[in-house]
Amino acid sequence: MTEAHFKATVLTLYPEMFPGPLGVSLAGDALARGLWALETRNIRDHGIGRHRAVDDTPAGGGPGMVLRCDVIAAALDAAVAPDDPRPRLLMSPRGHPLTQARVRSLASGPGVIVLCGRFEGVDERVIAGRSLQEVSIGDYVLSGGEIPAMVLLDACVRLLPGVMGKDASGAEESFEGGLLEYPHFTRPREWEGRAIPDVLLSGDHGAIARWRRAEAERITRERRPDLLAFSS
Ligand code: SAH
Repeated sequence: MTEAHFKATVLTLYPEMFPGPLGVSLAGDALARGLWALETRNIRDHGIGRHRAVDDTPAGGGPGMVLRCDVIAAALDAAVAPDDPRPRLLMSPRGHPLTQARVRSLASGPGVIVLCGRFEGVDERVIAGRSLQEVSIGDYVLSGGEIPAMVLLDACVRLLPGVMGKDASGAEESFEGGLLEYPHFTRPREWEGRAIPDVLLSGDHGAIARWRRAEAERITRERRPDLLAFSS
């Protein structure tokens, strides 16, 4: 087996969550075929003292706990060589929102190093001191960075060469042309009084393409006008 081009290293307090959903279907098959590689590192291994403490109370007071900068740095330094070219990402609701364009750019690179936060988050100093890029999967707050890491990895892996079969580019999917995707239909031809649109059964590829384009534009206008605002 050739060595995977895309290598993910995930730092987490819960390595047992991986591969989890990434171990089945498209991503799992690709993992088994060596199209990508996944390594987990347990942050706890770098915890302090007999209890392997990884967190402490927030300076300035307030609720919750904060992951210690020295512990996170030790975990990163043990997992990642200084010349490792992979971007170092911290899953964080404060981060740049993850987009299909970012996913595509990450998927075309050597892989990612992903730090999963927990509790209130991570001491700010290690974000700066290890040049971590904060990435958000959306405007809501989860209890940990593991599911966001899986979201990011799943999105990347399906774009890797050889993973998606003949639709390898995914070029017609939502977001790729700045639009949401057109509707899909399959057999049966009629179901509960609802028919597949005639044009899709016409065999006229030009007409089908025009219909799909128009539907994609209509759906995008209705649901996500913000996407249209950026395209000319
Ligand atoms: N106190 C933080 C939230 C901490 S949630 C704040 O208000 O910003 C605990 C961890 O879950 C975070 O450190 C992060 O790793 C992860 N997380 C939660 N929501 C996320 C999101 N929308 N995107 C990416 N990571 C998220």
